Amino acid sequence: MPAETDARIARLLHHRKAGLSQGDPIIPPITASATFHLPSVQSGGQFYGRNGNPSWDAVEAQLSILEDAETASFPSGMAAIAAALFATLKAGDRLIIPSDGYYVTRVLSDGFLKPLGVTVTQIPTRDYETADFTGVAVVYLETPSNPGLDVVDINSVATRAHLAGARVIADNTTMTPLLQRPLDLGADLVVAADTKAPAGHSDVLFGHVSGRDAALMTRVRDWRRMSGSIAGPFEAFLVHRGLETLEVRLDRMCASAATIADRLAAHPAVRNLRYPGLPGDHSHRVVGGQMANGGFLIGFELADAGAAEAFLARCPLIEQSTSFGGTHSAGERRARWGDGVAEGFIRLSVGVEPVEVLWQAIAAALAAAHQP
Ligand SMILES: *Cc1c(COP(=O)(O)O)cnc(C)c1O
Repeated sequence: MPAETDARIARLLHHRKAGLSQGDPIIPPITASATFHLPSVQSGGQFYGRNGNPSWDAVEAQLSILEDAETASFPSGMAAIAAALFATLKAGDRLIIPSDGYYVTRVLSDGFLKPLGVTVTQIPTRDYETADFTGVAVVYLETPSNPGLDVVDINSVATRAHLAGARVIADNTTMTPLLQRPLDLGADLVVAADTKAPAGHSDVLFGHVSGRDAALMTRVRDWRRMSGSIAGPFEAFLVHRGLETLEVRLDRMCASAATIADRLAAHPAVRNLRYPGLPGDHSHRVVGGQMANGGFLIGFELADAGAAEAFLARCPLIEQSTSFGGTHSAGERRARWGDGVAEGFIRLSVGVEPVEVLWQAIAAALAAAHQP
């Protein structure tokens, strides 16, 4: 991790210190109150739970340190994405979204933005670097894309989008702000599902929007207040706790993923392995520039749907579940959701299990899945 990242992690861990008085809890309390003492509307501070809550303030302080930007928290990744899109788009605008990115973003755009008069154009992540952004209001990108793990150069896309007068929103869920910094690379807003690695324990949904344009962030916050898309204080507490160990979890997960990706790539049963940064992968040139490492997600194909299902069922150290970024390794056959991937494609999220034990379980399940 570069020195500025180390400094951010240390600040995140001690962000409450300067504001503490004798007897205050070191850990932020869960403030379960819908309404707050308000003898006068002139006094400022908290007054109603749809406008603010001290438990959000604590987690937003952490995320603002990581993003170097103002942050608004949301009750899920999709709530954050909806806020960013509704805050930036109006009737007659054109939106570009990835055809191979998180599918709910596409469904939301087609089902709710299109009927309001937004033109939605889907293009593959790989084509962003050459796409024509003339007449586009918002270029929405996701890199590495979920689940295909295709990568785009954020800075190059942002530069071209801005020349065309478009705003750029980047979904940074697969990397987290510790591994990739879209705002530094020119994105106007970053959105993320903290449900994944930032919370990290598969026990809460959460999301955030961050940005350095105060007017744009005011609009995002207005959307939250008016749509009522607010996180609960207990959820904010869980994410606050998760963020304290994000770096140590990512260290283990990403190092293990690199080891396992190397070994899977050499395995005879495995085809079309995708792990950003692996020599030979088309993403290799971008990794090391915008990405701190290849992340903790691996995509690969087994012969067919049957082989993939058998592998997942037989591996005792891979939870068969959707979502990713938790402490437990998890995998699923993405074609079961209709993603545009091969029938035998598995998205593997590498957890914090010691790597040799994990690899032995994977290797044994691969061997068993390939016995006729
Ligand atoms: C999971 C995910 C989301 C949505 O997050 P939720 O918390 O499930 O709403 C958005 N984008 C990406 C890339 C994701 O992986």
